[in-house]
Amino acid sequence: KKELLLQLKGKENVTLDGKSINIYANIGNVSDVANVLQNDAGGVGLFRSEFLYLETTDYPTEEEQFQSYKAVAERMAGKKVIIRTLDIGADKQVDYFNMDKEENPALGYRAIRICLDRIDIFKTQLRALYRASAYGKISIMFPMIISVEEVREIKKIVEEVKAELRDLGIPFDDCELGIMIETPAAVMVSDLLAKEVEFFSIGTNDLTQYTLAIDRQNPKLDKIYNPHHTAVLRMIKMVADNAHANGIWMGICGELGADLELTETFLAMGIDELSVSPSLILGLRKKVRETNVDAVKDALLDRLK
Ligand code: PEP
Ligand code: MG
Repeated sequence: KKELLLQLKGKENVTLDGKSINIYANIGNVSDVANVLQNDAGGVGLFRSEFLYLETTDYPTEEEQFQSYKAVAERMAGKKVIIRTLDIGADKQVDYFNMDKEENPALGYRAIRICLDRIDIFKTQLRALYRASAYGKISIMFPMIISVEEVREIKKIVEEVKAELRDLGIPFDDCELGIMIETPAAVMVSDLLAKEVEFFSIGTNDLTQYTLAIDRQNPKLDKIYNPHHTAVLRMIKMVADNAHANGIWMGICGELGADLELTETFLAMGIDELSVSPSLILGLRKKVRETNVDAVKDALLDRLK
């Protein structure tokens, strides 16, 4: 079985009726890149940068972060690398941030909310990202977005960072900017958000949690934590439609992206990219190559009813 999958290396992610999709990989640190290349990913769709913060006993410096982002960008040799800015809080606690204990951490001080409150930390990361962008093809993605105002504030800070680098004569690329769609609020204003950014990536792990009001960490609720819920699938369709109506691309980087039961549905929705763990890439490619989207389109969209 493994041998058969290996024969798919170098092949395109294209359906029987000629529709193509990008299959990228999710990673947590620099050493994962070997696995990404081994499994022939088209790019990195989610680099969870918080692991740089979780592995250390104090804030990682700009230089330390720069070295990690640069290493990933260089090893991916011109393929797209989407790096997500710090997403801690909730399930990922870091001691040196000295955060207050919260009643509802999943609804609390986390991710972009921390970055927009502690702009020094955010700018350090952005400077490292932009410096690394000169060594490959880096896109930057922001987690836990709920509003257009947040995105505008982020873009203002990004412009400040770029101006600072320009003044210092440090080279950088104009990185593609995108956001995670992982809150119901972001889904409902995705038509407006699509006018602010260049891509969307749906975080189905959190989107399922917040849509169904089910703690993704509570094993007692595993049985009803259902990312196939019609509410979640309708949201994914809505995000795809709003992205495409506004001329931007969209993908999925939550676990659901790798769910082979839904691959046909995602293709029928016109999803542009699926980012999955490296070991699942070739199996997903096989599934894509066996699908005829036109033949099953109506049946698949029935899933939404
Ligand atoms: C998600 O929420 O689906 C996601 C990809 O992000 P994380 O699992 O890191 O919260
Ligand atoms: Mg998430």
